[in-house]
Amino acid sequence: MTVTAEQAAEVLRGADRILILTHLRPDGDTCGCAAALCLALRAAGKTAYLADNTEITARYRPMTDPLRAPEAFEPAFIAVVDSSNPERIAPSIAQWVPEIDLVIDHHEHNPNYGRYNLVRPDYAACAELIYEVICAMGVTITRAIGEAIYTGASSDTGSFRYSNATANTLRVAAACLDAGVDGGEINRRLFEVKSRARHAMEGYVFAHMRYTHGGAIGTAVIPYTVQQECGAGMDELESIAALPRQIEGVSVGLTLIEQKDGTIRVSVRTGGDLSAAEICRSLGGGGHLRAAGVTLHTTLERACEQVQTATEKYYCGKA
Ligand code: 5GP
Ligand code: MN
Repeated sequence: MTVTAEQAAEVLRGADRILILTHLRPDGDTCGCAAALCLALRAAGKTAYLADNTEITARYRPMTDPLRAPEAFEPAFIAVVDSSNPERIAPSIAQWVPEIDLVIDHHEHNPNYGRYNLVRPDYAACAELIYEVICAMGVTITRAIGEAIYTGASSDTGSFRYSNATANTLRVAAACLDAGVDGGEINRRLFEVKSRARHAMEGYVFAHMRYTHGGAIGTAVIPYTVQQECGAGMDELESIAALPRQIEGVSVGLTLIEQKDGTIRVSVRTGGDLSAAEICRSLGGGGHLRAAGVTLHTTLERACEQVQTATEKYYCGKA
């Protein structure tokens, strides 16, 4: 059944021994939501932990590691945050998928795969929803909870710069600042400080950008060997998909990243009315209006053709 934030808070008030799941290729939103919810549940007297998602990168570990469930932990209630469907829950914790009690998410096509489902596609970040649930639980936003919520909200809005950031997003961020959060430092760590490997990756992306449609579509194609040469891991690849649209004239950014297993991770970023989610759904993936993705099982060059063809189909007529 679908629930409101108040009802979700009521469900959580009646639960205990809670395990919180995050999604694959975990980002600041899923990690921040999980940490904030876990801390709030503990403040409410509950036993709560984060499931041990082994994909969580060094960037977020200081926030999530102290809350990680011990191996012997036997949960009685499973909550999942920011995961649009059960297939997107990280493989290392997917054994809990059949037992999911509560889904808290902000993706449009969430199939409501929990016993209780709180889904708000109009929210830029799932962290906005977590904030509401925590407030409805009557738990005070401490600095630590605020840092986790701010991390989520900032991550999904590119430091509150993207057009998905609403007045509500900023109100939630303001509440975090009121709780003593150093927003400038969080944004600096999320968006400014980069490893040398990341700088090498960015250099490659800008030097090898492919332009079509008179420069309106920019495609970054990143072979696995290049990632190895740059020394880039998951952290360095996060949000690399934002780069094509940083180039003047590019309105659709396509980023194709060859994985170690040979599959191709595709990220689509759009502006205006052009739906990235529609483009990705036509290829078997999904996502939000302006940020979506899909995994393709083919060669890098074939994938590039498929994605460009799919994009052109939607692009023509809309631009
Ligand atoms: P990214 O390009 O950062 O990997 O993903 C952008 C957004 O698209 C994510 O927030 C997620 O909601 C969605 N997304 C990415 N990959 C997939 C996919 O394979 N399937 C679905 N349904 N959504 C995806
Ligand atoms: Mn999110």
